[in-house]
Amino acid sequence: MTNKRIAIIGAGPSGLAQLRAFQSAAAKGEEIPEIVCYEKQDNWGGLWNYTWRTGLDENGEPVHCSMYRYLWSNGPKEGLEFADYSFEEHFGKQIASYPPRAVLFDYIEGRVLKANVRDWIRFNHAVRWVSYDTDSSKFTITVHDHNLDSTSTEEFDHVICASGHFSTPNVPYYEGFESFNGRLVHAHDFRDAREFAGKDILVVGSSYSAEDIGSQCWKYGAKTVTSCYRTAPMGFKWPDNWEEKPAMEKVSGNTIHFSDGTTKDVDAIILCTGYKHFFNFLPDDLRLKTANRLASADLYKGVVYVHNPKMFYLGMQDQWFTFNMFDAQAWWVRDAILGKIDISDVSKTEMLADVKERETREEADDDVKYAIRYQADYVKELVSETDYPSFDIDGACEAFFEWKRHKAEDIMGFRNNRYKSVITGTMAPVHHTPWKEALDDSMIAYLQN
Ligand code: FAD
Ligand code: NAP
Ligand code: MG
Repeated sequence: MTNKRIAIIGAGPSGLAQLRAFQSAAAKGEEIPEIVCYEKQDNWGGLWNYTWRTGLDENGEPVHCSMYRYLWSNGPKEGLEFADYSFEEHFGKQIASYPPRAVLFDYIEGRVLKANVRDWIRFNHAVRWVSYDTDSSKFTITVHDHNLDSTSTEEFDHVICASGHFSTPNVPYYEGFESFNGRLVHAHDFRDAREFAGKDILVVGSSYSAEDIGSQCWKYGAKTVTSCYRTAPMGFKWPDNWEEKPAMEKVSGNTIHFSDGTTKDVDAIILCTGYKHFFNFLPDDLRLKTANRLASADLYKGVVYVHNPKMFYLGMQDQWFTFNMFDAQAWWVRDAILGKIDISDVSKTEMLADVKERETREEADDDVKYAIRYQADYVKELVSETDYPSFDIDGACEAFFEWKRHKAEDIMGFRNNRYKSVITGTMAPVHHTPWKEALDDSMIAYLQN
């Protein structure tokens, strides 16, 4: 072990990728630093660690989970498969392409159980504050240990922030919200679609949460779904009882007024209005401030904080690629820390130029395929610079392109399709039950033949 100490904040898919990256180097006989991973929840998995709770958790911390019952992967699993741990290795067979949450949680957990890194994580530890001292070149982390109900501080040479950015809700105000006579909830606190069976619901927003929460409610028996968009419609061929409207202007009683002059009476408003990058444990000089986009602000190579290159961030981009992109980032950050990738002589000017180049390239085209290829190129770039196993990233793009086509064809049926693994080359089986009839989202139900 080198005498460096590394802190990782968060044991979601990104933080776990970082643990696996260091463990894989150690398994090859390399010296690795001391690793401490702080996780405020009592288990790993991040957003995938489901809880029925909303608001505050059992320790009084904000509930991290934004997932809900019956959530199935919204993209094909062939786009997120770990290159060092295939679905076939984990489940002993190839499985269908859009697993429910519990199945993906099991897969995420399988890799880190095999790597035996659980001891590196301090659960029920909420990071309260991080500061950097220029004289000692060390970070000090203040953390609340809820097991002992005590706070303490420790020093580190590097901090890797992997705390996620889809947990703190972005909650806009519209006139009339305070006197709406129904249920008014943000997607972060949405848990069970059955609550809305027989109801008329409004979903506000036109991105993945609006599409998926509306679809869940539709599947579990909502009477009607109305969705409204601020910028552009989702534009799918919706079922007969789903209507897409332009922007909401105001609410009076239970009546929603839209910008085209039409109205609709609803029982519930579900705000699918996105999330904020929110780090209340970071001071101004360490805190990332960025929009939810593919080229994150202020991150050289998408991971090194340009204003203090001893600080790293994982998974802060908007995401087409997820688990395998977090892996690519984690392996790269590991090598930067181990000195295998030398960033010591990259000037701040060069780092900022790298960020600018990424932003300009992202903005060059707003086509969806361009965006998917853009993020694929980023994953390729990082993978080529480390020993993360290379895989067919263009093949993963093809799965995403097919996914897009399948959604345009049949928004309530796209999850019945299957794709080929880019890790093992095996074609996924067709799932035994069409998505809209599969009301049981348990792992047992999903994996049965
Ligand atoms: P997170 O999963 O958010 O994990 C961050 C961790 O940091 C958490 O465990 C949290 O408790 C911990 N933490 C935060 N603050 C502190 C603190 N102060 N101290 C200590 N610990 C802290 N991706 C897909 O690939 N497929 C999907 O189908 C999919 N569905 C999604 C559905 C929803 C509703 C949402 C919101 C996201 C979905 N995603 C999906 C994207 C998701 O962002 C990634 O899959 C993944 O969870 C991101 O991992 P992460 O580790 O970066 O962040
Ligand atoms: P998002 O992609 O950031 O989209 C936010 C949406 O809110 C946009 O449509 C935006 O509209 C709208 N919006 C923001 N402020 C608004 C306002 N003041 N008034 C009206 N509309 C407003 O967030 P998201 O949809 O929550 O998705 C977050 C992540 O969760 C994604 O990674 C997604 O893949 C994931 N997710 C996955 C699943 C699943 O796997 N089953 C389900 C849900 C979510 P503009 O376009 O006008 O900005
Ligand atoms: Mg490689």
